[in-house]
Amino acid sequence: NNLVKYFPINGGILGKQIAKVHAVDDVTFTLEKGKTLGLVGESGCGKSTLGRTILRLIEPTSGSIIFEGKDITNISQKDLRPLRKEFQIVFQDPFASLNPRMSIKEILSEPFEIHNLYKNKNERLDKIVSLLKEVGLSPESIDRYPHEFSGGQRQRIGIARALSLNPKIIICDEPVSALDVSIQSQILNLMMDLRDKYKLSYIFIAHDLSVIEHISDNVAVMYLGKIVEYTSSENLYKNPLHPYTQALISSIPRHNIVEKRERQVLQGDIPSPINPPSGCRFHTRCPFAKEICTNEVPNLKNLGTTENPHHVSCHFSKEIKDKKIN
Ligand code: SF4
Ligand code: MG
Repeated sequence: NNLVKYFPINGGILGKQIAKVHAVDDVTFTLEKGKTLGLVGESGCGKSTLGRTILRLIEPTSGSIIFEGKDITNISQKDLRPLRKEFQIVFQDPFASLNPRMSIKEILSEPFEIHNLYKNKNERLDKIVSLLKEVGLSPESIDRYPHEFSGGQRQRIGIARALSLNPKIIICDEPVSALDVSIQSQILNLMMDLRDKYKLSYIFIAHDLSVIEHISDNVAVMYLGKIVEYTSSENLYKNPLHPYTQALISSIPRHNIVEKRERQVLQGDIPSPINPPSGCRFHTRCPFAKEICTNEVPNLKNLGTTENPHHVSCHFSKEIKDKKIN
């Protein structure tokens, strides 16, 4: 709820704070059990920081994180320890996230050592073998090292490691971005099967909307630290209302063909989060921007219904919805 993360920038001869990076700025969303929230935006928009803040790997500046009704924002690292099992992360680059000097057996044993589980050697081995099977790897590979596997296989190991402690939430930080397109869908399918089998909840981070279309139940689109659109996957892909989301979706080829959308190319780069643009942060790139956009920050408003919410932050979202603006 209202999560904020600023990083101070110190400088000058006194090393005082001279500026701050607005990495995550007033973000609110709900993750339901067994569901996937897609979190999308260009690199630098704060999505990884948001993921790490939820895991309390980074301390939030303000706002709160509620897990199963319990406010975990300020609980001590000691009280957080038992909860650590419930939250896991799968990283973008499976090669960088696996220790090259450890065998698969050692990599998958590590979480058990940390949490004092499966102390009996045979039990531990059985558990590791079942994890490998669960992610589609042969148990014979147990003594091999990360470099002996392909990118997709390494990501399967990363997933097995995340699964090992029976978590409730997995933050998937661009887990397929480094993989070939042909391998991406295999990994996505595996992740969807595991989610449904174990009622896992995912926060699935991606930099483009094409990857998360089939895995997400809800999607939050982020721009420069803020959520600009947040709704069900169905609403978002069929009827995107924020100009930024519209541009992102228009670059997915199959959507252009089905919806006969014109491709909108975003002009310029994402501005710096150190001095984000005034008013609507998207105004420097928005094709609809008017004067009010540079002066007033738009709020996230529900343009849908209570049962089927569709949150958008744009001064002209109503006009865009009614197609009265172009
Ligand atoms: Fe564009 Fe203005 Fe809407 Fe921002 S508020 S998205 S600049 S029209
Ligand atoms: Mg990132």
